[in-house]
Amino acid sequence: MSLPRTYLRPLRYAVQIGFFLLTLAIGYQFYEFVRHFEAPGHPFVERPSSVDAFLPIGGLMAFKYFLLTGIVEPVHPSGFIMFAAILGVSLVVKKGFCGWICPIGTLSQYVWMAGEKIFNRNFRLGPFTDISLRSIKYVLLGLFLFLIGIAMPPNMMALFFIADYYKVVDVRMMKFFTEMTAITMWVLIALGALSLLYKNFWCRYLCPYGALLGLLSRMSPFKVRRNEEKCTHCHACTEHCPTLIDVESKAVVKSEECFGCMTCVSHCPSEGALDLTVNTGKKVSVVKPWLFPIILIVLFYLVIGIGMVTDNWHSKIPNEDYQQLIPEVQKEYLNR
Ligand code: SF4
Ligand code: SF4
Repeated sequence: MSLPRTYLRPLRYAVQIGFFLLTLAIGYQFYEFVRHFEAPGHPFVERPSSVDAFLPIGGLMAFKYFLLTGIVEPVHPSGFIMFAAILGVSLVVKKGFCGWICPIGTLSQYVWMAGEKIFNRNFRLGPFTDISLRSIKYVLLGLFLFLIGIAMPPNMMALFFIADYYKVVDVRMMKFFTEMTAITMWVLIALGALSLLYKNFWCRYLCPYGALLGLLSRMSPFKVRRNEEKCTHCHACTEHCPTLIDVESKAVVKSEECFGCMTCVSHCPSEGALDLTVNTGKKVSVVKPWLFPIILIVLFYLVIGIGMVTDNWHSKIPNEDYQQLIPEVQKEYLNR
């Protein structure tokens, strides 16, 4: 494999920015959709189905419901499809979703990069505090899995899916940010400040979604491998890993924190010392690292495409329901 592989960093930044801008565009289109029902005369725009990606708990419920009944809930079906897509890609290309697609991951990255510029460094918690805090995301994941995966029977879910609350849960999610309370604002400010100081604070310590993807990522056949014979122990991989993995001391990076961002591979100056590899069960082969995001994006959109062709993408809620329910949510927020 020919070096240098520095192209991997701009490639990743471009993919991240592309998905971030797409998220902003989806958010804006959804905002315009909601305004149509709130403000008489406001032009109508179609509801972007992909906005349901912001409903991961709904996605988890719908996923369980599908496993038990074989039915895709019709209210936010794209939430289920994207949840399944994200789980599926994590089995193949580990936490590549976090490292290349997730807009919150991208935002966190630019915030810690800004922190690095301001303070000339990012701070690091001691090992005990770091491990203790990292357990929070697993506790949150366990809580959601218990409440939804175990405690909630499918008939209760079916009732929840047809409730008015769930029909406009996406509108409520939008208002959580557009009409945030003082508490929400201060929590976000605190998270922003912590993200400035510590790399990927939200992803590393708090995100239950990332915790789930990390556990699934253990099964991924793709791994970063280091060849001790070629390694010059220059520290570049360890120094630049955004998830603080001591790559230089590993033969294989198996950590559930690994984003598959290829930053370590892109910084390694020694040919053959650090490579992306795939384990096919019979042998371990070196793979061109640019293939990683391509496999990730193709698989992600393949699942979305299956959702679309099977008519499990667009919500089945008629606009008449939105006409009735969105002004009710608006009134609720005005009267708070
Ligand atoms: S080990 Fe390499 S691929 Fe994994 S997060 Fe660290 S820099 Fe990225
Ligand atoms: S960047 Fe490459 S050469 Fe340097 S320590 Fe890591 S694996 Fe070894």
